[in-house]
Amino acid sequence: MIPFDFEYYKPSTLADSIQLFHELDSLNKQPLYYSGGTEFISMARMHNVYSGAIIDVKAIPELNIYEINDDELIIGAALSLTRIAEEDLFPLLSLTVRRIADHTIQDKITLGGNIAGTIIFRESVLPLW
Ligand SMILES: Cc1cc2nc3c(=O)[nH]c(=O)nc-3n(C[C@H](O)[C@H](O)[C@H](O)COP(=O)(O)OP(=O)(O)OC[C@H]3O[C@@H](n4cnc5c(N)ncnc54)[C@H](O)[C@@H]3O)c2cc1C
Repeated sequence: MIPFDFEYYKPSTLADSIQLFHELDSLNKQPLYYSGGTEFISMARMHNVYSGAIIDVKAIPELNIYEINDDELIIGAALSLTRIAEEDLFPLLSLTVRRIADHTIQDKITLGGNIAGTIIFRESVLPLW
């Protein structure tokens, strides 16, 4: 159980998510962006993180893009590790994310969460270097 109450927001545009973050921050709600939620939920249960308001970014279309466009690979921050591995547009990244945690958690962990999280592994960063 998460031992504190928090507000939940799910904006559908990047602009709304950023505006929300600034509004909630100015109200001292200690907002956090939320993707797969695996780290937030695990750490909140252990009293290792607090937020009065979380902003779920998974409904933002740009953060769900995974495509090659004019020789550029575009990888949205809200893509799950499972989707990255299955679509396999970047084989080294696919190989790397398949080794993170386990299959069930790979369905939830996102690329943005792995890069921005506070748990130090951040293994998906290596192929992007
Ligand atoms: C059981 C377990 C096993 C794990 N095993 C591994 C492993 O083997 N290798 C490894 O590298 N990592 C591992 N991790 C770490 C994991 O990848 C990170 O904790 C990651 O943050 C989880 O991603 P998420 O999408 O669930 O993040 P969330 O829980 O949603 O968010 C985590 C943090 O990242 C921030 N954040 C999330 N998305 C964004 C975004 N788009 N923009 C800005 N900030 C954002 C949040 O504000 C929050 O501070 C494991 C974690 C767990 C819980």
